[in-house]
Amino acid sequence: MACVPEVVQKLVKAGFEVRVEHDAGAGAHYPDDLYIAAGAGIEPAHDRLVAGAQILLCVQPPTTAEAALLSRGAIVIGFMNPANNTDAIRVMRDRKITAFALELVPRISRAQSMDALSSQATAGGYVAAILGAANCPKFLPMLTTAAGTIRPATVLILGAGVAGLMAIATAKRLGAVVEAYDVRRAAGEQVRSLGAKFLELEINAEGSGGYARELTAEEKEKEQQMVSAAVARADIVITTAAIPGRKAPVLITGQTVATMRPGAVIIDMAAESGGNCQLTKPGETVHDNGVMIIGPKNLPSHVAFHASQMYAKNLHSFLTLLVGKDGSIVSDFTDEVLSASLLVHGGEIRHKPTSDLIAGGKP
Ligand code: NAD
Repeated sequence: MACVPEVVQKLVKAGFEVRVEHDAGAGAHYPDDLYIAAGAGIEPAHDRLVAGAQILLCVQPPTTAEAALLSRGAIVIGFMNPANNTDAIRVMRDRKITAFALELVPRISRAQSMDALSSQATAGGYVAAILGAANCPKFLPMLTTAAGTIRPATVLILGAGVAGLMAIATAKRLGAVVEAYDVRRAAGEQVRSLGAKFLELEINAEGSGGYARELTAEEKEKEQQMVSAAVARADIVITTAAIPGRKAPVLITGQTVATMRPGAVIIDMAAESGGNCQLTKPGETVHDNGVMIIGPKNLPSHVAFHASQMYAKNLHSFLTLLVGKDGSIVSDFTDEVLSASLLVHGGEIRHKPTSDLIAGGKP
């Protein structure tokens, strides 16, 4: 849910008129009456809500039908998934809609409060660790009981970005022995500070903006060997490895899965962008040789209450940049955060990779 009652209250206090779609918050356990109490109006007709908005806050990008309904000059803010949403982007361009893509917010200190990729990755990493524990046939902590001593489970996290670090912290809290690996050497310090072991490889694939770069063929071979050995000794493997704009790297082959213990679980957080495990099927659970491979979609929705709260606060911070204290929308988008996240404006696609993609396809 893009807006929670607490944020509605702030917006109303700042002078916005807020309208919320009927039951839009129900799935995240924010019923309509909380929105009414916060000062919002409830709109039962989806089309009327979209058509009447000057600023539309959303989680998923508008569909082509919604883009066609938006009033000319309206502003849309949310995840836009540009590479997979080109038809709606064309419609927004042609209708002179202004669209801001939250995934394009630069990862600078000033924009941390607007960083929805991070807030949702935090939620996803937490859920992945819980999902792994719930499907593992072992206790995670070491137990000394009258019925004997139980050894702690081993959890391996591949990719120690925002989601991976949260998965590490959660698995540690559950008492597991945690190992983690990332191509960015800088991640090692953060992994160790959470009490987990960092698997070292003589590779540093730190690319621009703190993201990983793609590995060379020789580096991939070395990585495969080390990762395979760690995967084989793990009870739960959580994979989060991603390279922005590209297919996720395969870190676990089918052959490696065959070396895993029966009862082991893989949670592939990269399932929707190609998968870090060769056997992953997005949105499905695959069983192979006694190993369960879960390819979850939309993990943050399992903690929808808090994921929505964080997302709504990200949007609220973004709005404070966009709308001045007097309620007027800033006339230029020269601010670094606004200009970087501006996807469509004034009949043009402002994000070069997206405009190139669209220019390469249909006009
Ligand atoms: P992401 O979702 O793009 O990728 C997840 C992780 O996978 C990354 O840590 C990446 O290095 C790793 N990875 C990629 N290929 C791999 C491979 N072959 N093997 C193992 N690991 C691999 O990353 P993210 O979580 O969005 O974070 C990316 C970076 O941005 C991190 O350095 C993070 O600390 C930084 N960041 C900065 C800010 C800020 O300063 N405001 C906010 C959030 C994140």
